[in-house]
Amino acid sequence: MKMCLSCGSLFENRIWRCPNCLWEPEYAGGFALLGVNHADRPDQEGFMPEYFRELEILESGHFWFTARNRLIRWAVSRYFPLARSFLDLGCGTGDLLAEIEMYRPRIIPYGADFYVEALIVASRKLKRSELFQADIRTIPFRNEFDLIGLFDVLEHIDEDEAVLREANKALAPGGGILVTVPQHPALWSCQDEYGCHLRRYRAHEIRSKLKKTGFRIIFETSFVSLLLPAMALNRLFNGLKKKKKCDPMAELKIPSILNRVFARIMFMELLLIERGISFPAGGSLIFAAVKDDALGKSPAAVTPAKAGVQNILK
Ligand SMILES: [Zn+2]
Repeated sequence: MKMCLSCGSLFENRIWRCPNCLWEPEYAGGFALLGVNHADRPDQEGFMPEYFRELEILESGHFWFTARNRLIRWAVSRYFPLARSFLDLGCGTGDLLAEIEMYRPRIIPYGADFYVEALIVASRKLKRSELFQADIRTIPFRNEFDLIGLFDVLEHIDEDEAVLREANKALAPGGGILVTVPQHPALWSCQDEYGCHLRRYRAHEIRSKLKKTGFRIIFETSFVSLLLPAMALNRLFNGLKKKKKCDPMAELKIPSILNRVFARIMFMELLLIERGISFPAGGSLIFAAVKDDALGKSPAAVTPAKAGVQNILK
């Protein structure tokens, strides 16, 4: 069900119009603005709009994005084979949604991003995904989606637990979540700063946040594990340089021969994960978890997010 951002009523309309208070969102670029738009928040630090066009070009064919998306697709099939609706929270330029459209024709895909600029780039490649602008600390849905994805999103947000709590409420009973995050604070570098990360996670940290926000973990592994030594060396080397000389795009602009070699290594890693290997360390972590309905309904899990809605509407 949709949730009115003005009066909090739940409704089933196809369009965004609250039957109770007649609230309707504004639109920009054809997308419903369901969160505070960053244009209204000059103090908002984060991605620059031009970053998305650049990122789209760099992501295309890059081993890391290709391998991560393939891993996510595998996890969707393996752990959520019956999912019929999927919301990609922080969908960015929509590459993963495009793959879901192609490989999972029975799933109805939805994408949300804070940045309308990202949605515009995404909409050019997407055929059947429904896109909307949102501040994912207030997800305007309740009991709606079978599956929600948070792929390299939580590390950008101060209130990561609030996002998980909201995602939990937006999930239908028995729904699930897939989360990827960067791992190991020791790997922190200018690449993280450039990417507007606030943190890299430790496994136990994200594990306990998932449990606390009403999820039961059914799968986890590190990935970018076989390449972890190369990644650690690169980041150590970059860290030794003066800050001005650290190239934040170095990992995105790798030579094509190296890209092919790394893609092969990542493919081998995925084969191992598919055979049940769980890596204890790696550049990133992936978790699959299901909505723990007993926890999700407890008053403790409901109150903080309600407060979040009110704060954002102020
Ligand atoms: Zn309303």
